[in-house]
Amino acid sequence: MYAPKGVKTSSDFPIPDKMKAWVLGEPGQLSLKDKPVPVPKRAEVLVRIDAVAICATDLEIIYHGPPASIQGGLPFNKNFTPGHEYMGTVAALGPGVDEYRIGQRVTVEIHAGCGQCKRCREGMYTSCHNYGLNYGDVDKGHRANGFTTDGGFCEYQVNNINTLVAIPDEMSDEEATLVVTAGTAMYGLTELGGLIAGESVVVTGPGPIGLLGVAVAKALGAQPVILTGTRDNRLKIGLELGADYVVNVQNEDPVEAVRRLNGGKGVDYVVECSGAPNAVNEAAKMVSRGGKICLAAFPREAVPVDIAHIVRNNIYLFGIRGEGKSATHRAEAFMSQKRFDATKIHTHTFPLEDLPTAIRYAKDRVEDAIKVVVKAKGVSATHKVAAE
Ligand SMILES: [Zn+2]
Ligand SMILES: [Zn+2]
Repeated sequence: MYAPKGVKTSSDFPIPDKMKAWVLGEPGQLSLKDKPVPVPKRAEVLVRIDAVAICATDLEIIYHGPPASIQGGLPFNKNFTPGHEYMGTVAALGPGVDEYRIGQRVTVEIHAGCGQCKRCREGMYTSCHNYGLNYGDVDKGHRANGFTTDGGFCEYQVNNINTLVAIPDEMSDEEATLVVTAGTAMYGLTELGGLIAGESVVVTGPGPIGLLGVAVAKALGAQPVILTGTRDNRLKIGLELGADYVVNVQNEDPVEAVRRLNGGKGVDYVVECSGAPNAVNEAAKMVSRGGKICLAAFPREAVPVDIAHIVRNNIYLFGIRGEGKSATHRAEAFMSQKRFDATKIHTHTFPLEDLPTAIRYAKDRVEDAIKVVVKAKGVSATHKVAAE
């Protein structure tokens, strides 16, 4: 029975010594294996994982490797478990933890920075200077679930208390997996972007971050909020999440459409979530002079950018990596107040043991899949091998 020294457990929450975990072998190959249940250290808890959402970045990692970095290199054949958008129930407390109780439902931020570098001290722990340094002689204690340390496609995981967000009983497991996605949009709009009520926002690209970017911008009081994209079914969800206008870029020039919809003027912010090769140039034409562009997606290849236009018009351009400055807590506050219904982007749920099917739905957008979730409860003991 699981009873590590210094770790607080409860008879209400019996924990096995071993768990099922998906492990990445060669690119695209996942197998379900037994692993020891991890042990929380100081300021960490053990979370029983109840649900995990699949992210486009998981697909990048599973098929190509980066941005995961395991022991300073590619994540293949290192007994690595991916998955980073998870929620669950606190099952055991590491030494010194009294901030959470066993049995409490939580959702989890991805990044626990080292806590000792300049960026961590500023609250920008997703830009930790010691990113990926969590092993060997250079162990700085950095963790990014499913990127630099084991993630959530398994039954239990350890998490620093600073990465936990308490959630209300009324919030479903699936909705709770979306808090971190909304938190990323929040971080881009407020902490990095400085959005205030009444400013105008364009979101380009109706993926999960784009759609929740619309919802968060509207909840923050932005006006108008305009969403651009190519798929009418996703643009429709954008309208349901609060977009004032949507533009299908296959029918209309997006720059002209944005100016027409905003009284002939450019907007205050563009949140770029499409990764299209010309997206930065179009965004720079959508913002007014002195406007801001948050880059949340990127094309695979380097692309030409009209820098002169950006300079002459005093345009701010910044990238965003994940969720920082506890923005996730504020996103959760919006969601528990039901300021928007994030579940509109959740389309499918599978058991954890069917992860390969879930990945196929997410990758190939089977049945218009947007957010696909796997749930761990009741996983059977059968071992499966998936090679896609
Ligand atoms: Zn993600
Ligand atoms: Zn750091």
